[in-house]
Amino acid sequence: MDMLICAACARPLTEAVRLLDTVPERPGYDGLPGPDGRRRPPATMPRARYAVEPEHRGAPFVACEDEDAYDGTYPGGPWRSDERGLLVSAGLRGQYVLHPDDVLPLGFHPEIRRLVGCCGPAGDDGVNRVCACGAEVATAYADCCGPYETLFVPDAVRVVPAPEAPA
Ligand SMILES: [Zn+2]
Ligand SMILES: [Zn+2]
Repeated sequence: MDMLICAACARPLTEAVRLLDTVPERPGYDGLPGPDGRRRPPATMPRARYAVEPEHRGAPFVACEDEDAYDGTYPGGPWRSDERGLLVSAGLRGQYVLHPDDVLPLGFHPEIRRLVGCCGPAGDDGVNRVCACGAEVATAYADCCGPYETLFVPDAVRVVPAPEAPA
């Protein structure tokens, strides 16, 4: 098992997780409140697993070049548009995707704009979670119109072996 630690201060940021080859297909939001009453889809990832997101994710966004083939800000992702037309993500690729419950408590980004969404953080305005040292490490997605997952910035974290669980 692995864990993610902060590249700046080496604090552990996650529970022990095992790498999956691919990101599972994201379950859509069925319109029903989750077990905790919040409106959002089931989590993308099973517990205790992580995967590398192959797609561009998050800010910044650029105009989609072929609007007829538009499939969201990333394939299968939520739609977004502004005066430029339909938008696709030009954000980081290769981010680590985890179940939010496998993420240790992180601080909120001081820029309030990054934390907003409809029912939870939409995650589209940049990194919205910070390490206790202040490093911008992760983006929490927990809105009704997007996935339920937390993405870690590859350059802000290191993957290390997790300590053995006590027998
Ligand atoms: Zn840190
Ligand atoms: Zn909502």
